[in-house]
Order: sequence, then structure tokens, then C-alpha cells
Amino acid sequence: MVRAVQLPDGDRPVDLWVDAAGCLVPDPVPDAERLPGRYVVPGLVDAHAHPALGSKAGIPVPLSESEAVKALAGWAATGVCLVRDTGSPGGSVLRLGLGPGMPRLQAAGRFLAPAGRYFPALLPEEAPEQRLTELALGELARGARWVKVIADFPQVVDGMPAGPPALTYSGEAVAAMVAAVHAAGGRVAAHTTTDVVSELVRAGVDSIEHGNAMDESALQLMARGGTAWTPTLCAVLRIHDDTPDATRQRVASYQDRLRELLPLAERLGVPILAGTDTAGPIAREVALLAEHGLEPSRALAAATTTGYSVLGEPVNRLGQPATLVTYEHDPRQDLAALFSPSTILIDGVRVR
Ligand SMILES: [Zn+2]
Repeated sequence: MVRAVQLPDGDRPVDLWVDAAGCLVPDPVPDAERLPGRYVVPGLVDAHAHPALGSKAGIPVPLSESEAVKALAGWAATGVCLVRDTGSPGGSVLRLGLGPGMPRLQAAGRFLAPAGRYFPALLPEEAPEQRLTELALGELARGARWVKVIADFPQVVDGMPAGPPALTYSGEAVAAMVAAVHAAGGRVAAHTTTDVVSELVRAGVDSIEHGNAMDESALQLMARGGTAWTPTLCAVLRIHDDTPDATRQRVASYQDRLRELLPLAERLGVPILAGTDTAGPIAREVALLAEHGLEPSRALAAATTTGYSVLGEPVNRLGQPATLVTYEHDPRQDLAALFSPSTILIDGVRVR
């Protein structure tokens, strides 16, 4: 059993009973072991991650299937219980077989981008505009629950993005693809770093990934339509020793913008998701959300309750296998507590 304060919003300990099969049950279980931890979340959710990507000299590269499984196991050990995979080269993540004690996975299949408009190593097959809908539906047919469209990107020259990002597909093509994906029961995540957020929201996409050029009118549209925002701060605020000054300045001014945009998004009711992209860990993303204007409990919600609700993933129903992560100290007092989980239970399997 777990006796703990339920986060992000609880204020007193409650008893959660887990039977021998790992299922959540309503009544006390005789002689049940008390699991360590005084604060509990229904698992952490990484809503923008790429288990099948690694990085070489700062450039994303594909990982093998066994390396991807290893990455997911590593995330499980940090308390990540649900992962939305936001794209893999050729949709390799769709082929992964995950055993017990691994995070639940909602995969997006392959990246959809036209030739020369995404990292070449991640784009074994390009998606020309006239085939966008057909290819998106193909990924759903292979088991993807999401479709990942690269809505803007620089031209790629000699294998590297060069120059400013620009639109990859027309608004009409994206809108037609989104309508077809929705009709087939899937959802669409859109990568964007330019000021096309409102256009993408009007086209019906379900989540804005990165969204570096977010503004108030886009947030208002998103609030109305329930479109989620995954700002991926670990990735977009990343600075290396050799990062040029101009980039550092751009990051610093975006940080100032975020301190207005994130609280505004929260006030408007835009679902904010925690996603690490290729630059985790998730505990750091939650800390960054709080450093950029979210109350700690709201930053925690982004990586827990909001994640489950936006991804439509049921969790912790009575009689079903339990998923939970506990902490000894209240992460709302100090989010660094998220780096030290006490107990991790994923779908009834004790991971820690
Ligand atoms: Zn990504």
C-alpha cells in the first residue's frame, strides 16, 4: 500500500491499496507492505520524446530497436510511465515490443516532411505534399496513434539545416491531412518554430510542438479548441559551450517571452504538456516549466494529470493494474525531489 499525498493538488495523505497482482483495490489488503514515499503521482508523462533517436555531435541520429528499448527502460527508472513518441526514422518505434515494467507508449510513426526539409538521417522516406494524407493514414494503419508533421523547417544543405525555418506544406494540405487523420481516429502533432501556430490550430492539429513563435492570439485559439502546447524547454533552451552569441541572445529573449506566455496559457486553459524531445530528463523539463512562470503544481500537472488527460490514457482505475510514482519530499516545495523517486509502479509492475 501507499500512504501519500496525491499530487499535483492533494493536501493530506490518502491510502492506496494494491493487491498481490498489482491492481488498485478499494479495500485494505491484509499484511500489505507499505511502499516508501509520502507524495504520489499517477506516473510521469513525457509527451514529446524520441526513444529511437540519439545524438552525435549535436545532430540527431537513429538508434537501433534494442537501443530504443534501452532508452525507454532508462526513462521508466526515472518514473516515466507514459511516453508519446513524436516521430522515429521510418516509424521504427512502431515495431518495438515492450515487456512489463516499461512505459506505455503512444507512437507517431515516421516523421512527415518533404525532401530536404528535415534531418536526412531521420527521413528515410520523404512525404511530398500531394501524398501527405495518404502517408499519414499509412502510419495509422501500421499502429500509430499520432501523426507527426514537420510543419516548418529550414532547407537542409549538405545534411544540415541552413537558414531560417519556413513552411513545409500549404495550410490546405495540412488541414486535409488532419481531417482524414481525425476521421480515422488518429491525432496530429505539429512541429513548428515559426509564426504559423494560429494557422496550424485552425487546420485542426491536436498539439503544437515547440511553438517558439507562440503568441497570445494563438493561445486564445488553442484554448478554444483544446489544442495542447508542448514547449520542449529542455530542447529549445539548450545552450552548449560553442553556442554562438546570436543564438544565446535569441534563447534569452525567448525565456523572457515564456515568462509571459506560460502563465497566460495556464490562465486561458491551454493544456500544457511536459516533453523532453531529445534533451531530458523529464524532471529537468518540469523544473524549466516552473522557472519560466508556471506554479510548481502546474508544472507537475504538465508532466502528470494533464499528460494523461490530453493523451486520453486511463490510469489508476479500481480493479486495474496500478501506475504510480512516489517521492519522500514534496516536489511542489522543491521540484528537485523529482530526481529521487522512492517507488515506481508501472501497470502493476514494481520498477523501483
Ligand atoms: Zn522532437
